[in-house]
Amino acid sequence: MSFNYHDGVLYAEQCSVAELAAQYGTPLYVYSQQQIMNNWQQFATVWPAPHRLCYAVKANSNLAVLHLLAQLGAGFDIVSGGELARVIAAGGRADRVVFSGVAKSRAEMAEALAHGIYCFNVESAAELEQLNEVARAHQVMAPVSLRVNPDVDAQTHPYISTGLKTNKFGIAMSQARDIARRAQELPNIQLQGVDCHIGSQILTAAPFLDAADRMLALIADLRQDGIAIQHLNMGGGIGISYQHEQPLDVSAYLLELQRRAEALGGLTLMLEPGRSIVGNAGLLVTQVAYHKAGEDKDFLLVDAGMNDLMRPALYQAYHEIIPVQQSAASPLLVDVVGPVCETGDFLGLARHLSASAGDLLAVMNAGAYGFTMSSNYNTRPRAAEVMVIGDQAHLIRERETVSDLWKGERIVEVPR
Ligand SMILES: *Cc1c(COP(=O)(O)O)cnc(C)c1O
Repeated sequence: MSFNYHDGVLYAEQCSVAELAAQYGTPLYVYSQQQIMNNWQQFATVWPAPHRLCYAVKANSNLAVLHLLAQLGAGFDIVSGGELARVIAAGGRADRVVFSGVAKSRAEMAEALAHGIYCFNVESAAELEQLNEVARAHQVMAPVSLRVNPDVDAQTHPYISTGLKTNKFGIAMSQARDIARRAQELPNIQLQGVDCHIGSQILTAAPFLDAADRMLALIADLRQDGIAIQHLNMGGGIGISYQHEQPLDVSAYLLELQRRAEALGGLTLMLEPGRSIVGNAGLLVTQVAYHKAGEDKDFLLVDAGMNDLMRPALYQAYHEIIPVQQSAASPLLVDVVGPVCETGDFLGLARHLSASAGDLLAVMNAGAYGFTMSSNYNTRPRAAEVMVIGDQAHLIRERETVSDLWKGERIVEVPR
């Protein structure tokens, strides 16, 4: 792991986190380049060509992260025109981009067609018809994969489970054959594959393999209908260890997937990992503003809030919180809470920590869905981001200034 204590001080690779906080201020996101590379290699080594890996941009879309992954040969899974623009700006290849998302606009479709992306992951019959129209208007063929909902229970938090019938995502398995047939008829649609994404933070291979079996059965049916399906994209969703969870064995899962797909033959496999590439490669450094002794419990009031890291407030997600400088003082039972005016504004509840005003804390495993979900609520400038490479730290996003926050706003004269 790339975050370790040396003589009681937390390091990111060979950079002291305390020194980073002194130099760049807090709250501060710190990423380890080596950890991102290691995570990527874990997938890439057991995923020989022509199989493809498309990093899910929404997990962490900083240009430096995207550039690093592009250098490693990554494709990208995007969910908006904005993310496509980021991939291009970071030097990623458009012909390795897959475009997910339930409500793509005409403008986003046109842009993606102009860039020549690898394929659109189409989520409904209506989207398929609209994509055909947009492609016709531009006199091009739109490469398509159908996102099918395999109706498996990923046994994860309801907000991050996407593979059940009741979710808004994907085409129902029972409609997939009809919609595939329709795709064949449409003159500007080129049906290439099928995809699914059953949820996030999934800790066992069973739901993935269950979904894969259903998708492979669908592909067999489609081939019987004379529809040549060239790829199966199993999405992302591989969980990481936030507390004491035992994540699944990635290479075992990938090899088993390949084994099952080979039985059918002629299939390129794809994955869209996000969290498992960047999650454990980032931490959020925050400074304690106050220690408040309450009647029932104590609070550590820190300078990072739910606007900086939303996962605890949004999903009751657990993030380990550790001191940047270890201390010998005996720990207290505390809630670690932010400055935002919401009761849900916490980073961690009922933790055993010894820290006082001015001390630094590190919120671990914050590399995925951390910065990308941050907001300016309470007119709080978003945090700076730093990428550590060995003993070098690189500022990869400046801290926002307060005046950045009202850029584009206008005062309207009040009639007198
Ligand atoms: C969010 C998302 C991913 C990435 O999920 P992780 O859990 O971060 O791996 C992949 N594919 C699609 C379609 C997504 O929406």
